[in-house]
Amino acid sequence: MRKLIVISAPSGAGKTTICARLLRDYPQIRLSISSTTRAPRGTEQNGKEYFFLSIPEFEKQIQRDRFAEWAKVHGNYYGTSRDVVEEAFQKSHPLLLDIDVQGSASLRKAYPDETALIFIAPPSLEALEQRLRSRGTDSEETIARRMSGARAEMARQNEFDKIIVNDDLDRAYNELKRWLKEEHEI
Ligand code: 5GP
Repeated sequence: MRKLIVISAPSGAGKTTICARLLRDYPQIRLSISSTTRAPRGTEQNGKEYFFLSIPEFEKQIQRDRFAEWAKVHGNYYGTSRDVVEEAFQKSHPLLLDIDVQGSASLRKAYPDETALIFIAPPSLEALEQRLRSRGTDSEETIARRMSGARAEMARQNEFDKIIVNDDLDRAYNELKRWLKEEHEI
């Protein structure tokens, strides 16, 4: 099987929880570990959440065409290495990619027949803003930046194969599972 399950969403839409559930419930699905130039947060470890690279290291890999896709997100580089994708194809396991909207579009171009593009949407922009505020972790400036990013991402929903509205986590997750089974035999 050559399958790339690509999930994008505005920050705060519940993507991380949905990805964690997929990995828990489908042992055959592996998570793609991206490379990034942003600094590790909290307990993040190199090679676990991300491969943490310096800007020159990342740019060298771009020049060598080592990324299946890459993008600048919030001022940092993020990218999916070709090796990660090729290894999944060789070992025939579906790969889950938690990447931004630009990255989803690039992967669709690079692997048109292998990609399943999923967009997790909040029920509304107002609901998203409320969720971001209730997390209590972000400054006003960060919330404003995330909201303007969310508006831009929501405007590109129609590029995706499946839009899941996360109004209720269990309902949304079940809808995604049904779709993966019916459309992709996963
Ligand atoms: P964070 O820094 O919070 O872990 O991730 C920030 C954003 O970068 C998220 O929207 C995440 O989906 C996106 N991202 C993570 N890895 C990649 C990648 O390899 N490629 C692209 N295009 N986006 C990524």
